[in-house]
Amino acid sequence: MTVTVRFAPSPTGFLHIGAARTALFNFLFARRHGGSFLLRIEDTDRARSTQAAVDTILNGLRWLGLDWDGEPVYQFARAPRHVEAARQLLAAGKAYLCYATPQELEEMRRDARAQGRPVRYDGRWRDRDPSEAPEGVPPVIRLKAPTTGETRIDDLVQGAVTVPNEQLDDMVLLRADGTPTYMLACVVDDYDMAITHVIRGDDHLTNTFRQYQLYQAFGWPVPQFAHIPLIHGADGQKLSKRHGAVGLEEYRRQGFLPEAVCNYLLRLGWSHGNDEIIGREQAIAWFDLDHIGRSPARFDIEKLTSLNAHYLRSADPRQIVRLLLAELSLRCNGTLAPTAEERLEKGLDSLRERAKTVNELCANARFYAVDGAVTPDAGAAALLTADARTRLGAVVKLLGQVQPWRAEAIEAVMREACEVRGWKLKDIAQPLRAAVTGAKVSPPLFEVMEILGREETIVRVEGAAGAEAP
Ligand code: GLU
Repeated sequence: MTVTVRFAPSPTGFLHIGAARTALFNFLFARRHGGSFLLRIEDTDRARSTQAAVDTILNGLRWLGLDWDGEPVYQFARAPRHVEAARQLLAAGKAYLCYATPQELEEMRRDARAQGRPVRYDGRWRDRDPSEAPEGVPPVIRLKAPTTGETRIDDLVQGAVTVPNEQLDDMVLLRADGTPTYMLACVVDDYDMAITHVIRGDDHLTNTFRQYQLYQAFGWPVPQFAHIPLIHGADGQKLSKRHGAVGLEEYRRQGFLPEAVCNYLLRLGWSHGNDEIIGREQAIAWFDLDHIGRSPARFDIEKLTSLNAHYLRSADPRQIVRLLLAELSLRCNGTLAPTAEERLEKGLDSLRERAKTVNELCANARFYAVDGAVTPDAGAAALLTADARTRLGAVVKLLGQVQPWRAEAIEAVMREACEVRGWKLKDIAQPLRAAVTGAKVSPPLFEVMEILGREETIVRVEGAAGAEAP
């Protein structure tokens, strides 16, 4: 058996971080078993499905590196096939036409509520002859579901779960307007796509009993199911907007790397001993359904952030520099210094030791990317007192004489200047840092000056020396 799984999002909004985890688990399971990972866009809710939401899903999956096999399947386009399948069951006597009017259904609901019973269709057209059909009432097609016994799912995560069949009524397969229901579409699509394992959120577990009955009615092999507990927020409630960001896109915007998000989502609900750092190759080699936890995992932004810091530090420098250039170019309206790339390459290691997200890294790296005097932040401005600016003015000339323009040589000349003038090193280092980086903290000062180059350093130091006192 070739493993075939699918990710089946409904394109009605953003890509929820929980859905991204479902996609990841499916992807890893497929790759682990040399199978296929298919994508099905469940766009049958025409009022709520949008192209923008489809694009968000596709881009999100691409960003995470979860490449699906083949072309995405669009569920709505398959409606004729779903209709045909419902008619097939009807012809086989496994489904029937139901002419109950909306009023009758409303009465059923009312009576059930009044008697404190769950609302269920009472099967009144199950064995009735269609010749008794009332005039002008378009029928729905309902499944003739078993009324005795129980339906049992051997879920690969939840274990054996059963429901008495009397609790499941005869569900609608085809609505009166001829449109297929989600239950029907999902089962027919999973069958046609030869899905062997359905891995999805456990909010779908109750649907699974009904879907199981449909497979039985069709006489189709039932896929294996694995229902993953949902992600909760720190308060133990289902993760939702009030917990903060739930859309994958927001994490991207906040400066998280896809590698970190994948690693974090993998560990959220699945474990491999005490391993925390698990890259893609390792994840594919290790992933299984046996180690998915049965209770909901809590989303922990701190953990994600620290994983992100790890990936930021260990990523290919070229990848990070490319990201930085793209982001900084946006932030600086495209006015990057001609040497921005070279400076970022040289300065990257020190910069990324001090940042946990791409956004932080960008903010800290900005002084490398744009030429000319920098605008100091509040902390740096406070360091640029009249005295400090006088000291800067005094050393500008010395900077012109440093040979060669290397961190050690710059430091040696500055130390000597301090000795001659009776300053402490910080008396000159602090204003220098403020002048060249615009901040109070930065990567090692003399390294920064070396990377910026003599000319650019002097421009900035002169700028700060000549500026008005704060
Ligand atoms: N379209 C459903 C959802 O977005 C998924 C259904 C499934 O995976 O079977 O929740």
